Amino acid sequence: MTEGLPGRVMLFWDYDTQWGMDALGSRAGAGEALGHLEFAHTERLLELHARYDIPACFAVVGAVALSGTHPYHDPGQIRRIHAGGHEVASHSFRHEWLPALSWPTLVETLSRSKESLEQCIGAPVMSFVPPFNQPFDYLAGWSFSLSERRSVKNDRTDLRRLCEALYATGYRFCRVAYRPMHVRLIERVSRRQWQQASRLESIAGITCVRLNASAGFDGAATTMLDHCATAGGIAVIYGHPHSLGCGNAQDEKHLRPFLERVNHLRREGRIQVCLPRELLPEA
Ligand SMILES: [Zn+2]
Repeated sequence: MTEGLPGRVMLFWDYDTQWGMDALGSRAGAGEALGHLEFAHTERLLELHARYDIPACFAVVGAVALSGTHPYHDPGQIRRIHAGGHEVASHSFRHEWLPALSWPTLVETLSRSKESLEQCIGAPVMSFVPPFNQPFDYLAGWSFSLSERRSVKNDRTDLRRLCEALYATGYRFCRVAYRPMHVRLIERVSRRQWQQASRLESIAGITCVRLNASAGFDGAATTMLDHCATAGGIAVIYGHPHSLGCGNAQDEKHLRPFLERVNHLRREGRIQVCLPRELLPEA
């Protein structure tokens, strides 16, 4: 189905709610009370995505699917995301920092999140987006994280183990963010980010795509989108609903022109919008 089209774009929304703010607070010591913004901004996103007929993958913290109130729970909104034709992926159960998790706690957060989201929407959840875009550490990809190694002395979860646990718990897709050593060296020497079009890769049986733009929809995301429309490959773009009004690269003022550009390139047959679940090999 995708043959003959030069490029693809995948859009992700990391739907953290207050679980993500609290987890950030326990890691960085300054959790903010911004979790409530996720809900109102997601309603706005559902409108915008419907207007342009562009589906996205919402990576949802599983605990939000349990019954309860804002800023921690909203199962109804998760069902509206699903009903809008978007993919619901897991973003762990409580936005845990995965490198510190042992195998049993890792398996627990992955399976609890999957089960609560599947019960909520009544459909399979096959895709995963790691909180904080970590682990970075992945030996086979020449990616080494000194900070992860320093922070977790024993029984650390690296990207390989995350993918093994994802496979064991029934997932089939993961967005990854590791950076091979040679890429980091080039960036250090050239003093700028060096991004390439993504290709699908398999890690421990899980289909993975690598992020290739920092969060947001400004120049960097547009450059990657245009590059993939011309040269092929996948532009992997993401943002957070709670940041839609924050004035930075994730602001709606950048998102709207970005969606218009995707729509334009799609009409010209130069780009295809795709969801993780559409990229999985036939079971
Ligand atoms: Zn997150």
